[in-house]
Amino acid sequence: MLDASKARNAALDLLTYIHQSPTPFHCVSETAKRAQSAGFLGLDEKSAWKLDDGQAYFVTCDGSIILWRMGTVPVENAGLRVIGAHTDSPNLRVKPVIDVQHAGYAQVGVEPYGSLLLHTWLDRELGVAGRVVSRTDQGLACTLVRIDQPLFRVPSLAIHLDRNIREEGVKLNPQDHMQPVIGLEGPNKNMLREMVAEAAGVDSSAIYGFDLSLFDLNPPCLGGVDEAFIFSARLDNQAMCHASLSALLAAPASAPTHMVCLYDHEEVGSGSHAGAGGALAERIIERLMPTPEKKARVISQSWQLSADMAHAVHPNYEHRHEPDHRPRMGFGPVVKINTQQRYATCGQGEALFAALCADAGTVCQRFVVRSDLPCGSTIGPITAARLGIRTIDVGNPMLSMHSIREQAGSADHGVMIDVMTRFLAS
Ligand SMILES: [Zn+2]
Repeated sequence: MLDASKARNAALDLLTYIHQSPTPFHCVSETAKRAQSAGFLGLDEKSAWKLDDGQAYFVTCDGSIILWRMGTVPVENAGLRVIGAHTDSPNLRVKPVIDVQHAGYAQVGVEPYGSLLLHTWLDRELGVAGRVVSRTDQGLACTLVRIDQPLFRVPSLAIHLDRNIREEGVKLNPQDHMQPVIGLEGPNKNMLREMVAEAAGVDSSAIYGFDLSLFDLNPPCLGGVDEAFIFSARLDNQAMCHASLSALLAAPASAPTHMVCLYDHEEVGSGSHAGAGGALAERIIERLMPTPEKKARVISQSWQLSADMAHAVHPNYEHRHEPDHRPRMGFGPVVKINTQQRYATCGQGEALFAALCADAGTVCQRFVVRSDLPCGSTIGPITAARLGIRTIDVGNPMLSMHSIREQAGSADHGVMIDVMTRFLAS
């Protein structure tokens, strides 16, 4: 069993990691920074590589990052232990026409990214962060930006102006009702563009493109009686990014090559050059074993954990859960099973993960969705199909998934890191 102070430290470190990661680009940057200080070497895909036994490396690709530590024996003799997770979370993305004015207000054009719970974004103080691409004498340059000021607010409609809300609930049209106000209409028609340019240290006329999203300024924290919970944005799925990175940094080198793949674009289907449906991981695995025969030998003895947060039983909606497969917070990591292959776990993978949990002194909980509800999915089936690696879908239980402010169990995080560390070293 993991002792309480270790579990608390793991949860506190997660709060820092999430706070540093308002967007996938920042998540990659924070991950790379932590890996570098642990001795990992950053590689450029454009260069020739010479990989040394026992050495650790990483490659970044926009909002995705792949990290690995070479095993103590040649990779074709022991295979890979891969943990995959995703860096992106649902949010509001800034549209290309950044500044607009309506009804006396300065506003910003935004659109939903992924399946967010729109109502949770109302009446919050929001900042903006992401990547700005500017034109310089040397070509196009990317700069990470983050404005931690309460600039944006999506105001809800007063109940007096729509009495139906009481009976019908809040109905939000993503085009009409989610545009934040940032100020009062005035002569400056480029309010936000200029603020973003200043944050990037460039002239606003030099900005040729950007990937910007809004984020909640409320910092992550522990809460509830005895700090039983983590309250935070982006627990889905930066909690599993942090857990897999922490496990990679903690795991002693062993025979298999340890690999962590953190992908962007899961919330919109993973179909991008940097996403789990793209060729990023495949390209790197091919560079580890260049011949088809060696690749087949590696893949056939490899395993992947697809780590993504899981649904804890909701006390106010118990009937929404399959009665015999309802994970609880504080009761151990979750393995997810779906016969339609929305999760990639098979009986063999379930057993392997349950054995790792038993070795860590914890229980493995099982999640199955109700048979009359559609099942969500993860990068698990996508990467299993693409790479051919046997995959187990796992995660920690949480509430409020895809809300701007999510909730997980604070003791669960360190336990998952422990189980993942055992998986890598297995
Ligand atoms: Zn997720």
